[in-house]
Amino acid sequence: MSPIAITSASAIEDQSQEMFPKSLSSTISKTLLNGTRAGSGSRLLSTRASKILSSLNLPTDTNQSIPGVFDGTKWLGSGEELVSKCPATGEILGRVRGGTVAETQAAIKASFEASKLVRQMPAPKRGEIVRQIREALLSKVDELGDLVSLEMGKIKSEGRGEVVEFIDVCDYATGLSRSMKGNVLPSERPEHVIYENPNPLGVVGILSAFNFPVAVYGWNLTIALVTGNATIWKPAPSTPLSSIAVTKLIQPVFEKNGLPAAAAALVCGGVDVGKTLVGSADVPLISFTGSEKVGKEVGKAVQDRFGKAILELGGNNAVIVDEDADLGLALQGVLFAAVGTAGQRCTSTRRLLLHRSISAEFLSRLLKIYDSTHPTNQLLVGDPLNPSTLIGPLHNQAAVEKYESTLAGITSRGGEILTLRSGRIEGGDFGVEDKGNWVWPVVARPQKDDPCWKEETFAPILYVQEFDTLEEAIEINNSVPQGLSSSLFTSNVQSMGKWLGPDGSDCGIVNINVGTSGAEIGAGFGGNKSTGWGRESGGDAWKQYVRWSAATVNYSSKLPLAQGVNFGIQG
Ligand code: NAD
Repeated sequence: MSPIAITSASAIEDQSQEMFPKSLSSTISKTLLNGTRAGSGSRLLSTRASKILSSLNLPTDTNQSIPGVFDGTKWLGSGEELVSKCPATGEILGRVRGGTVAETQAAIKASFEASKLVRQMPAPKRGEIVRQIREALLSKVDELGDLVSLEMGKIKSEGRGEVVEFIDVCDYATGLSRSMKGNVLPSERPEHVIYENPNPLGVVGILSAFNFPVAVYGWNLTIALVTGNATIWKPAPSTPLSSIAVTKLIQPVFEKNGLPAAAAALVCGGVDVGKTLVGSADVPLISFTGSEKVGKEVGKAVQDRFGKAILELGGNNAVIVDEDADLGLALQGVLFAAVGTAGQRCTSTRRLLLHRSISAEFLSRLLKIYDSTHPTNQLLVGDPLNPSTLIGPLHNQAAVEKYESTLAGITSRGGEILTLRSGRIEGGDFGVEDKGNWVWPVVARPQKDDPCWKEETFAPILYVQEFDTLEEAIEINNSVPQGLSSSLFTSNVQSMGKWLGPDGSDCGIVNINVGTSGAEIGAGFGGNKSTGWGRESGGDAWKQYVRWSAATVNYSSKLPLAQGVNFGIQG
């Protein structure tokens, strides 16, 4: 059976007919998405892709190399070629020229120079710049959201949601620019006072992951700016177009306000660019979002030069559904967090822990939805830009292979796949040739000692096991190396208290009757243990973007020493 027959062929057909004249729809879309060369020798993009790219002032000729380095005055790039590929169609969206090591160093220098002007600007004025960045983003919220869907593969509303998250954190940072404060503390010495002062660090290096190509930058850029720093961004090599579009959109705001645009420099590139940033003594703070493996390397390299690091690494998040939970609510929470973004959020639910008394009922309701082929009650897999789709493609073929090897490992070690469908979806039919990275979302019951329980597989695979007491469930929740997000579904106030307290979840995000993913910007976001202990966005996260100084000020005519120390000498 063709997967698209199951996943609403008509919706996709309707959409493709919107993009192409009815009679030509199928043939033209096939030709364009296959990248046929026109007479000029240019490689043409699909109508849909070119519409999105041109709305954001990005080139649509995929033979043209797009410069991926912005040093504040010019766009350049003579390093590695980064190919941006649509995960849904395999279509090449653009070829971006990343930075060399020398170009990265030059951009760091430009950003460092810009930081001297940013730090002199009053904080509320910096907040005003962030407010204008918000306006720039708002003017292209739909276009940018669509580009995120096109390039990363997440569904349309989630692509837009990322831009909205950037806008939200702009609002937060603008407010913060008038409210961040140090401390005034009492001194034990007469006519003395102690201050704790926050001052800017200089340049903040932002290294981001493919799965949030816009929002993670937003969390960092906005807070770094209002705290008085310049930034330099190295996005994931597979999502360079989203970063170029964002940089182009916000660049005029700096110029308009008399600040060098190198305050938000960009260097697309691969590992050499990342390592140059991480190793640079001119970048006192590295904010890194990515895998535990790379994060460990980055953390050590930054520590080696006594820099500061914020690490936002992998998650392995559990939902506990207790015996007294509202099962309908829990079902909704689990579904979005397990299959949303095709399981490619750091906060995606990977482990489902069910109280033995409700397990059979909950699983039967859950599997009914996973297995459904009914048009109104199914987890629609398909084109992420089709508004009805709930599950887009995986980001690349490597992710599909990892999904397959994880499932093969589970079954070879005696585990069971519970869903009727599983595995790679071959030969989709969007009216175009299928080169997308499609997989079925899966619920599995691995053996209890299977190594998969301790690892993050970035795909829509949900592992299930039962428990008898809340204590046991919390122990399972806490038994993995990662500590990002966790949720308990319960109506028992004592269970809530336990879950939130010292004997509860050891994660950075500890939810009740809400799924593990979909955090707001107001609280500090981040995880504990091998997730890296970092915090970004709201809460007290801003305090990491400054250098703190304790200042004792004596306004007396004597110089008494603290703790009653007597040095016995007069000046
Ligand atoms: P990744 O670790 O492969 O890459 C992240 C970034 O590091 C990229 O920009 C990459 O080019 C760069 N990089 C790679 N090697 C480097 C090196 N040696 N030195 C410096 N930089 C280097 O991660 P990914 O596959 O892009 O993203 C998926 C991972 O990110 C998942 O594990 C996910 O859980 C995690 N993530 C975490 C959060 C969070 O907030 N905790 C948010 C989003 C994603």
